[in-house]
Amino acid sequence: MIFKIDEIYGEGLDFEVLESKKHFDIDSPECSLTEDVKIQGKLGNTGQEILCNGLLETGLSVTCSRCLGDFSFSVKSKLRVHFLPRVEDANPANEIELNDLDFEQEFYEEGQINLSSPVRDLILLSLPQIRLCKENCAGLCPQCGANLNEKDCGCVKQESCDPRLAVLQQLKDKLK
Ligand SMILES: [Zn+2]
Ligand SMILES: [Zn+2]
Repeated sequence: MIFKIDEIYGEGLDFEVLESKKHFDIDSPECSLTEDVKIQGKLGNTGQEILCNGLLETGLSVTCSRCLGDFSFSVKSKLRVHFLPRVEDANPANEIELNDLDFEQEFYEEGQINLSSPVRDLILLSLPQIRLCKENCAGLCPQCGANLNEKDCGCVKQESCDPRLAVLQQLKDKLK
């Protein structure tokens, strides 16, 4: 996903790419790309800085955090990247401050930008921390491990361990 900077000029460069899912190496048991990655966007050149504004679309197979079943997750996210030239003797104290949090900051060198790593980051960031196959996923039975979305295993729910409730329970027993 490399673009030569001298091909980005004037009104900018419109582009549309479909990159093979293998390119991104997102292939773990918990999360893997199931579709190639489509990006449609525009590159602008301000002289030194390159701005990429686009829309990324792809699909993932993701493991549910609650029931551990796999489900498909569609990604449709805005890709906004701000490329700056990499300066060889950059002093860390002079690092450019992120003033536009809407854009991911990247560096370019040798007259070309590479969208691969910002695209990969965006795909992974589009996943929520808690990944649920459906909002009301019932999860697994803590006792027998059955998937409660598929069947009611019939296990009796464990008593609450809340000490305040335990005190109430003792009172109730005394009253019997
Ligand atoms: Zn689930
Ligand atoms: Zn059970």
